[in-house]
Parts: sequence; structure tokens; C-alpha cells
Amino acid sequence: MTEIVQLELIKNAVGGSKKASQSGRVAPVYNPATGEVFAEVGLSSAAEVEDAIAVAKAAFPAWRDTPPLKRARVMFKFKELLSANADKIARAISSDHGKTHDDALGEVARGIEVVEFCCGIPHLLKGEFARNVGPAIDSYSDRQALGVVAGITPFNFPAMVPLWMYPVAIACGNTFVLKPSERDPSAVMVVYDLLMEAGLPEGVLNIVHGDKEAVDTLLTHPDVKAISFVGSTPIAEYVYSTGTANGKRVQALGGAKNHMIIMPDADLDQAADALMGAGYGSAGERCMAISMAVPIGKETGDKLVEKLIPRVQALKIGPATDPDAEMGPVITKAHQQKVKGYIDQGVKEGADLLVDGRDFSLQGYEDGYFVGGTLFDNVTSEMTIYKEEIFGPVLSVLRAESYQEAVDLINAHEYGNGTAIFTRDGDAARAFADQIEVGMVGINVPIPVPVAYFSFGGWKRSLFGDHSIYGPEGIRFYTRLKTTTSRWPAGIKEGAVFTFPNMD
Ligand code: NAD
Repeated sequence: MTEIVQLELIKNAVGGSKKASQSGRVAPVYNPATGEVFAEVGLSSAAEVEDAIAVAKAAFPAWRDTPPLKRARVMFKFKELLSANADKIARAISSDHGKTHDDALGEVARGIEVVEFCCGIPHLLKGEFARNVGPAIDSYSDRQALGVVAGITPFNFPAMVPLWMYPVAIACGNTFVLKPSERDPSAVMVVYDLLMEAGLPEGVLNIVHGDKEAVDTLLTHPDVKAISFVGSTPIAEYVYSTGTANGKRVQALGGAKNHMIIMPDADLDQAADALMGAGYGSAGERCMAISMAVPIGKETGDKLVEKLIPRVQALKIGPATDPDAEMGPVITKAHQQKVKGYIDQGVKEGADLLVDGRDFSLQGYEDGYFVGGTLFDNVTSEMTIYKEEIFGPVLSVLRAESYQEAVDLINAHEYGNGTAIFTRDGDAARAFADQIEVGMVGINVPIPVPVAYFSFGGWKRSLFGDHSIYGPEGIRFYTRLKTTTSRWPAGIKEGAVFTFPNMD
């Protein structure tokens, strides 16, 4: 008789308590290193999401009126708990995402940075004041919370990307409904428990797991005032158009194809090492991964490729439990097939496949979703592997004749998330930062993810909406400006005035 294994069911968290979804729909949660299902996640119905929105709405007035200093104290405590539990969170990330433990710890560290930024919320929310804008008239402006706001997040940073959103939103005085990725929902629940332990009042942060049904409910519900989305470009575009058509403020961050220019004067060992980390770290499943290396001139290209080949062949690939692993599996079987399909397509379209990761297999983990490190040379801008985001451990070399050709290429690409230049030439570096049509630029820095007191966001089809995420832009996104004009003492009489008010 087959043994029946009761899988853990990952629940929603609404109004401070955990509730299993009653929708009758669940999705399996896999360990990508083994291909085994280790949990299930409930897929919330529209009614369950509406309930979470109602709970968040009810919690809003008291939370909005809580002094910012008290909200900041919750953030301070939260930061302490996150730091103390970083290892536990990282393990939860690796369990269903598959990234290495060190990489997961790095993700947690970057999430903590955002919470540290939010500890300064009393200062960040201070407005402007002007005395005597007219006789006995003063004006002040300040930024006020919106109400219930929602976040929809991708699989690739299951702890960090939610932390880009809700700490900033709730520090500003909003209440929040989060819909995490259904593919790796474990880490977000560990972090939620810590925030509740830090003293967040019930109903301020609510988590509903789900799929399109949950997302569509958030996008159309009149009580949701703003939506933060991070994910692929087609869904980002859908979220932006649907959310804005329903009267919401929306920031929707999408996909990417990030180029790194290698100038002839660059330190090629440094550039090759940078490409290894930025191309293959987290199995290429980062929106800031470098997937295109663009060496300038034949000699630079030849030397770079010569340095890359042995490095790619020597990549240590393994499960997160292997402390020596440099990268893990990709997220699902379907994604593994998709990445391999892109490699097939690259070969078909005439790119030179220098290192082929399609047949990679790991003893004891044959059913895991691994793809070996893959390297293409002589890729052209017409090829599918150039145009589309692969989101896997596939690095392509596109050789350019000149710096200008490389810049024109990057500027013509539909995505504009991140980019980098490796050079010792300050003139070239400055011109690049000036001319490139990309939101985040690295100069001898391969993954220029802004620190938490700057803001993160791409250009072109990598971001729909007017605001980047977290940092000062996050504060602007989650608040609206109010300007008050007041006259004291109140008794000054000037009779009825029918001209447009002015201070003369
Ligand atoms: P995804 O677009 O498939 O999913 C993102 C979220 O949207 C998930 O919560 C998912 O449940 C939901 N969703 C999926 N299909 C939907 C539909 N049809 N209708 C409504 N909601 C839907 O993205 P993913 O595969 O989880 O993440 C990888 C993508 O995210 C990559 O393209 C990557 O570049 C991008 N990403 C971008 C950034 C950035 O900052 N620009 C950061 C991380 C990831």
C-alpha cells in the first residue's frame, strides 16, 4: 500500500491569523533541486482577497494615525529580528527557490537595508512650511498615506522583493495586501511572523496566496489605492493597464536584457570574473543578471572568450545544501525546458555554442531542474536569444566594432533595466552613464542594484509607471501630497472677495 504523505499547506495571513484558503484550489510547491513536491499553497478565491482588503481597510485609520516614530520603532525591532533570523529566512528561500545559501543570505541582507531605510520614516515624511505667505497666512505641505495598497511579487527574490514594497508602504501609514509568487511562498511567511513579533498591529500587513484570480481582484477592487508589481514584462504591462484603468496608482517593474560593455582597456580578468557572477549567479534568474557581454574589437572579444570558456566549464552547480555550489537549479521543470529551448534556438539561428549546459546532470539529483552554464559567441541582434529574456544560466557574447555601436545596440533594445561598462577610461565611462537609455548603470560594477536610500527602476519596457521602487521614490509612490493654507487669527475681516485669491 502506498503511504499517504500529508503535505504542509501554506496558508494566508489575514488580520493577524493564518487561514487556509477555502477555494478548493491548491498549487504544488517544489524543491527544484530534487523535483519533489514538499508543500502545497492555497490559491485564494476573489472572495478571500476581498476579505483581506476589507481587513486592511479597517486597520487603516488607526495605523495612519499612529505617530511615525511609533511606526519606526516597529521597523527597528523588525530589522533586529530579520538580522537574528537571516539564516532561517535564507533556508526558507533556498527550500523552494533553489538558490545557494550564500546567495539567499545576500538577498536577505538587501531586504534588511530597506527596513533600515524605513527606520528613518519620521524624518522622511516631514513636509515643508512657509510662514506669512499672505497677511497672517501660513502654508504647509506634507505627504499622507494612500490607504490600502497591494503588492504582487515574482519568484526570483521571494523575500527581498516583497521587502522592497511593504516596509516602505506601512512605514508611510498605509495598510498592505501582498500576493507573493505561488511558486516559492515559504520565505515570505517566515518574514511575516517576524514582523508580527516586532509588534505590527493585526490587519496592517495581510498575505493572500494565489494566482490570476487573486491578482485580478486586487487590480479591480475600488478600495485598493495603489499597486506595486514586480515580474515579467507581459504581466507588468497587463497589471499597469488594468490597474490604471481602474483608477489606481501603479508601478509595474518588468523583465530585462542587461548588457555589459567590455572596452579594450578593461582588466579582462576582472571583467571575466564579473561576468561569471552576474551571468550565472542565481542560475541567471535575476532581473539584473548580465546576459549579454559586448566586447569592443576582435582582440578584446577573442581574449575575453578565452578567459570565459574554462570558467564556465568549471562552474560548481549543486543544491543549496552543497556549501561549494556557485549556482543551483532553475525554478521549475517548465522553466528548465524553456531555457533549453532557447539554447536550441540559438544554435538553430547560427550562434556559436561554446559551452553547452543542456545535458548537465547531477548524480543523486537527476530529477532536479538543473541547467549547466552555457556560453554563446557571435550572437547577433536579430537572434531570438538576443531579443528575449532567457532567465537562465546562459551568457551570450555579441561582438561590437566600436563603443558607439555597442551604445546604439543597447539603446535600441526594448528593455532598459540595468547595464554596465568595464573600462579604465573615465571619459568613456562618463559618456556611457550620460548617453545610455537604461535606468541603472554600473561602471566597473556588474550588478548595479541601488542601495536602499536610492531607488530601483529600469527604463523602457522594464518599468511601467512613473515611480521606481523603494528609497525616496518609494515614499513618493506610497503617499500623496497635501498642501494646507491657514489664517490665524481667524477674526480678520476683509469682506467678500470675488477676485481670484492673491497675496497682494
Ligand atoms: P511572472 O510575471 O510570471 O509572475 C509575477 C507575479 O505575477 C506572480 O505573483 C504571479 O502569480 C503573477 N501572475 C503571473 N501570471 C499572471 C497573469 N496572467 N495574470 C495576473 N497575474 C499573474 O514573473 P516570475 O516568473 O515570477 O518572475 C520572473 C520575472 O520577473 C522576470 O521577467 C524578471 O526579469 C522579472 N523581475 C523583474 C524585476 C525588476 O525589478 N524589474 C525584479 C525581479 C524579477
